[in-house]
Amino acid sequence: SYRKGGYHAVRAGDHFNGGRYVAQRKLGWGQFSTVWLAYDTSSSRYVALKIQKSAAQFAQAALHEIEILSAIAKGDPSNSKCIVRLIDHFKHTGPNGQHLCMVLEFLGDSLLRLIRYNRYKGMELNKVREICKCILLGLDYLHRELGIIHTDLKPENILLFSTIDPSKDPVRSGLTPIIERPEGNPNGGVTMNIIEKKLKRRARRAVAKISERRASMGVEAPKPERNMDGIDVRCKVVDFGNACWADKRFAEEIQTRQYRAPEVILQAGYSFSVDMWSFACTAFELATGDMLFAPKFGQGFSEDEDHLALMMELLGKIPRKVAIGGARSKDLFDRYGDLKRIRRLKYWSLDKLLIDKYKFSDSEAREFADFLCPLLDFAPEKRPTAQQCLQHPWLNISCSTQSATRKEANTEKLNVGMSNLQVKGGQVKKG
Ligand code: ADP
Ligand code: MG
Repeated sequence: SYRKGGYHAVRAGDHFNGGRYVAQRKLGWGQFSTVWLAYDTSSSRYVALKIQKSAAQFAQAALHEIEILSAIAKGDPSNSKCIVRLIDHFKHTGPNGQHLCMVLEFLGDSLLRLIRYNRYKGMELNKVREICKCILLGLDYLHRELGIIHTDLKPENILLFSTIDPSKDPVRSGLTPIIERPEGNPNGGVTMNIIEKKLKRRARRAVAKISERRASMGVEAPKPERNMDGIDVRCKVVDFGNACWADKRFAEEIQTRQYRAPEVILQAGYSFSVDMWSFACTAFELATGDMLFAPKFGQGFSEDEDHLALMMELLGKIPRKVAIGGARSKDLFDRYGDLKRIRRLKYWSLDKLLIDKYKFSDSEAREFADFLCPLLDFAPEKRPTAQQCLQHPWLNISCSTQSATRKEANTEKLNVGMSNLQVKGGQVKKG
């Protein structure tokens, strides 16, 4: 992808926007862009520099994202609404063309990474609550004040504040800004990547050797500090590449599969409430470590049909009016509102699932299900808004620690390493 119309190759020390920003290291990448940690020499802070691919359709998408992010920044002068802040934007010309660049506030790991570091165990409910509050504040701002639908809410698109702010404490964070470009091959990026990869491989080998030695000596290796114990959890919503104004929707198929609302599958039109559905899926995943819905296609049925079946197994039968209300309804449902190709469903309610599989206590399960279920209403207009959801008592329960049984259960789940939902999918239907 590092060719004409594609990504811009960057190496540490490269200058952008007349020398104001200096690239430090790569933070991540997406389909459309690479994102670099950069040092802002005019504010002496670290920022995230998102460099879009250069072809016309990517430039068009970046302009749209800049428009949305500018509206977000303009409406939130105190930067307190839990949405990533756009600091600056400019064009950068390189060998592959002209790239639109966005300068964003520098944030930390995504919630997806956090779930992985936690090895797919659920997070403490108190932390889930804090994260939920942040996301809801962000959604309420987007929906009610700006009229923007995010359309791609998921753990990957929610970033933590970095726990150590390198802009304030570069020494402790191990970062000192690179201002000058290091000596070496001037058309760098690609070469640099190869060198980086080699260095990384070497480092991995060294680490493996050390742990082997430690193990042979009976010494335990230090564990990475990623479990968030004792961290005040704050986060922000990012990635507005797919966001839209509610009155100017353009895409019919929105959202990442597992977080997709039923009305989107059925092509029955959508609004702000699609974000509320994705929010509920995200909250469940944080609390349990498992995706709420992980549909797969199978013999004689599609991924969409499996998805709808999983939804009904958890939430009950889709109301007939909703089932038959979309452009795709006729393909999927018969006139009674039953799925055409998946006939036998095994119902397993959310509170039972939380108790049986995730070992929530009865009250924890009841309260959490009471929070999530209204958000998972098949009828979009019945879902609570972010504003209403912020009033829910579950967000203000404070339990000192999660129940001991849950902790044990999570360890057990780790050992078994198997998703019940998958088992459920296999047992139940479609035979
Ligand atoms: P794309 O639109 O190409 O998918 P994203 O906006 O999702 O790009 O960014 C790609 C990746 O870059 C993210 O998954 C994340 O790892 C990293 N990233 C994006 N924005 C920031 C930020 N503000 N701070 C730190 N990392 C970021
Ligand atoms: Mg992305």
